[in-house]
Amino acid sequence: LKVDGKPVCECNLCFQGPYCSEFVPDCPADADRHDPLFLEPFWMRHAASSALLVAGWHRMSYVFPDQTYVSEELENYIRKLHAIAKNAVTDGKYIAFGCGSTQLINAAVFALSSQNSSSPSRVVALTPYYPLYKSQTDYFQTAHFEFGGDASLMKNNSDASQLIEFVTSPNNPDCQLRKGVLQGPYVRTVYDHAYYWPHFTAIPAPADEDVMIFTLSKLTGHAGSRLGVFAYPQLYYNPSFVFARWAIIKDKDVFDRMVTYVTSAELGVSKDTQLRALKLLKVLTKEGNGREIFDYGFKTMMERWKRLSQTLSSSTRFSLQEISPNYCNFYDKVRDPSPAYAWLKCENEEDTDCTKVLRAANIIGRPGSLFNVENRYVRLSILRRQDDFELLLYRINKLVKMDVK
Ligand code: PMP
Repeated sequence: LKVDGKPVCECNLCFQGPYCSEFVPDCPADADRHDPLFLEPFWMRHAASSALLVAGWHRMSYVFPDQTYVSEELENYIRKLHAIAKNAVTDGKYIAFGCGSTQLINAAVFALSSQNSSSPSRVVALTPYYPLYKSQTDYFQTAHFEFGGDASLMKNNSDASQLIEFVTSPNNPDCQLRKGVLQGPYVRTVYDHAYYWPHFTAIPAPADEDVMIFTLSKLTGHAGSRLGVFAYPQLYYNPSFVFARWAIIKDKDVFDRMVTYVTSAELGVSKDTQLRALKLLKVLTKEGNGREIFDYGFKTMMERWKRLSQTLSSSTRFSLQEISPNYCNFYDKVRDPSPAYAWLKCENEEDTDCTKVLRAANIIGRPGSLFNVENRYVRLSILRRQDDFELLLYRINKLVKMDVK
């Protein structure tokens, strides 16, 4: 691409030069970041049909013409897409949008925490868990809720406190399908289904839980479709975390409280973001009867997983999580795994810091301690661009060859 006759390109870390064509020999394989850029080629294939042109006068109001903050058409497309993916029951449920599943996670904590009990609700998740549940709950902590740690330690719940369990299914970091581990009158469960799409997992049955959160980030890959307005001091708002995702919620009271949270924080979700999401979902539901993105996503991620597993199969120093083939409602057959992350373990006794072992081999991973387990574990992101994956595989291959020598 040239602007004013000069080449312009955004090189990633590993390429340099005016056309990003020169490989930087010692550049690290960055498997830390979790951008789902593996979907970029899909959108390049549909560049024209997914493009959006918005006139300056369009959608200037805070609200849509029917005075709501949410596009009904977008809501309908979301229901349609879930019906195609067969991954969630949306009939008879309210749908709300938030400026980020990141924001909705906190909205759920606000909505579900006990307002009049003398002790705060405890937010818990089974280890290994997605770190944001803790970091966000700690940051926004009020008299009504606090982070309570590992859900498995709360089974007795001897002080009968209100518990809000986050269940990530499939889980980040180990990509296993999960069910809540806590039950009873004091437990409210929030299902974070960010990765519950055929790209990343078999779909054993449509999800039908009370509170479910999905995100556009991991469905279409548009993690960067965020727009931020700082609204209210107590509801700290990080502009880089704002975007469009949705929650599917059963209970009107919880729904209203979640909507109030988002409205109080943002006055609704960016109309531009909603327009973009609508455009993307229109393409998705049309192409290949709505199946093309899932076929593309599944095939890409499955092949990556196969190659990575194959590379590590000869190693005694490193092991990968096991994910068994599972029946998939979308494909109506048993299918192979296609996870978003590799959850790598250093098996040698002396390798207590596995991130360090990998760093020495020029690979950047995310340490186990962030997920509340020992640093013998590392999460490697395999959902970025093909280049990123090839470099990661190349470096892992080198490392494994050293270890089997
Ligand atoms: N939940 C899980 C389990 C995630 O892994 C992520 C992102 N990595 C999110 C929620 C948040 O994603 P986003 O804010 O882009 O919707």
